[in-house]
Amino acid sequence: MVHQPVRHHDFQEMLYPIHDETQNVLGVIAIHSTALGPAAGGCRLWHYESEKLLALDAVRLARGMSYKNAMAGLPFGGGKAVLQRPAIPFNRKSLFKALASAVELLEGQYVTAEDVGTTVADMQLLRQHTRYVAGLDTPEGRAGGDPSPWTAMGVFESMRAAVQQSFASNLKGLTVAVQGTGNVGGRLCRMLHEAGAKLLISDVDQSRCAKLAAELGATVVSPDNIVACDADILAPCALGGVLNEESIPSIKAKFICGGANNQLRSEADGNRLREMGIVYAPDYVVNSGGIINVVAEYMEESTEQVRTRVQQIAGRLLTVLAMAEQERLATNVVADRIAEGIIREARRDVA
Ligand code: NAD
Repeated sequence: MVHQPVRHHDFQEMLYPIHDETQNVLGVIAIHSTALGPAAGGCRLWHYESEKLLALDAVRLARGMSYKNAMAGLPFGGGKAVLQRPAIPFNRKSLFKALASAVELLEGQYVTAEDVGTTVADMQLLRQHTRYVAGLDTPEGRAGGDPSPWTAMGVFESMRAAVQQSFASNLKGLTVAVQGTGNVGGRLCRMLHEAGAKLLISDVDQSRCAKLAAELGATVVSPDNIVACDADILAPCALGGVLNEESIPSIKAKFICGGANNQLRSEADGNRLREMGIVYAPDYVVNSGGIINVVAEYMEESTEQVRTRVQQIAGRLLTVLAMAEQERLATNVVADRIAEGIIREARRDVA
């Protein structure tokens, strides 16, 4: 059976529908680029108001994965699966079986893993029906499992390195506002706490946030106020688009470094931050730890190989920040230019 892609008239990317046996569309797989290798990117399970918004998120996330994988030096392109989270109780097994069928039809062009709303257990379900999946339980010493600790580590090390370099200090005593206390945000908070930072934390899941606040002695801030709160550093670790025309003027933090994908709503928002003297660590430069682990698992590499690559993330951020300062450009513009150059070069090799 051939998997018919839909080229949505608004987007350049290929969109492959994910449907159940009765052809109800459950989501899409978006493939942005396979110039560097198979498209790799996680599966998001989230509620969207419309199919169009779901597709738009998939496309933006897939593009981000192309740039992230290129920047991290991985031999993979960019893709993403996005599933609509049903409003009523649903059968997880059949949802992930449908995704597995769609992945399998792509014959290795797309490799999936965890993202917001999906877990190692979901990946184990997928593995029963497709081999093009990572983020599974693996034996000790082998890369694999939940990618989020690696993502959190890359973000934390990047934050620490940039603070040391640009602000000539360490994290001790600095106030960090963390938006989203899930898999990445929660772990990042623990690392920041260990390093002596003061924490302001927020989550729409109030009980999750309260539990973490009690554990770390952090202050809880309402989701509406976290981006603008009085902090030295802002760490967006929830969903995308939080840095935008409306929110940026209210930001007090001087440095933004977090795990969330697509933090800028538009490219121009990077310039808005620059004009306000706020240093923005481009999301895909610092949050690549998870995909580094996913890809290493897929290539049957070791945990040590993952650690070595994750330790290189902070250095890449420092390079991007230095180039942006030197060229008086927004940091996202510089990062995109580097990533696009790598992808372009790979296309030329293929041609
Ligand atoms: P998660 O689902 O475990 O956590 C996200 C948390 O954000 C949840 O607790 C959710 O309730 C909260 N949230 C949602 N909207 C919010 C809002 N408006 N204000 C405050 N909190 C809000 O997901 P995760 O795996 O921790 O991923 C977080 C972000 O990092 C996502 O953007 C994801 O794409 C990105 N990311 C994750 C990984 C990874 O390894 N898990 C890798 C790279 C990027």
